[in-house]
Amino acid sequence: MTEQQTLRAPVEYAGKALHSGVPVFMRLLPAPANTGIVFRRIDLPGKPEIPATADHIVATNRNTTLGNGVAQVMTVEHLIAALRGMGLDNAIVELDAGEIPLGDGSAQAFVDLIQRVGIIKQGVPRQYLRLNKPVWVSRNGSHMIAVPADELKITYTFVTDHPVVGTQFGEYTITADVFGRELARARTLVFGRDIEFLRSQGLGQGGDMDCVVIVDDDGYRNALRYHDEIVRHKILDVVGDMGLLGFLHAHIVAVRSGHELNRGLMQEILKTKGSS
Ligand SMILES: [Zn+2]
Repeated sequence: MTEQQTLRAPVEYAGKALHSGVPVFMRLLPAPANTGIVFRRIDLPGKPEIPATADHIVATNRNTTLGNGVAQVMTVEHLIAALRGMGLDNAIVELDAGEIPLGDGSAQAFVDLIQRVGIIKQGVPRQYLRLNKPVWVSRNGSHMIAVPADELKITYTFVTDHPVVGTQFGEYTITADVFGRELARARTLVFGRDIEFLRSQGLGQGGDMDCVVIVDDDGYRNALRYHDEIVRHKILDVVGDMGLLGFLHAHIVAVRSGHELNRGLMQEILKTKGSS
């Protein structure tokens, strides 16, 4: 049996939000077995809670936003990726704003927090979400299929005709070891030509040169952390979005998927789920 896990102790982090640019104070707290991951907006009356589940997704425009009709939390995907990637079932995430702090643009800041306090087993078996048949979604040239498996494996193809980035392929079986070593430090790609447009849309206000990989037609503006950092970040995003299903056992094959297609696949998975 794999036991459920939570944090050994509370841990705090102060940072800036990527899209809204506001300062955010975040506390990660241990939680009892079967709590799941729950966001708590401590800046709002009644401190509303938003469970980190797929049915609370309210927006997928360049980030995954959760809401409950009263409150929202933007850009949850890198934090969820860190929590699930490191094997945490249960945690309360307190925030004094409506967006997760950016960290360094990857999941590494959150992995560091988790490792600082450590993880404890809770004596209660983890329930894995399993598929009883393949499911898929396909929209606008982007595709995802999930087939039954005894582990979470993600195969991703990032397709672009960009002269510098090129098509990138990655495949990982997600364990805490693999996540921490191969995926956690990968940052988002931004095309240099899109930066002004994103700013004009109110997105990316808190970003700086070090928190994203910026690429122009003649090269990267900053140093890469992995030679194929872009596809690794796309896989990190899939880990984060699928983490809204709890712990999934499936082999996911993705071509050009983003947060909206990830959500579509989760909806298909939830229609056919079995668990054990
Ligand atoms: Zn991301």
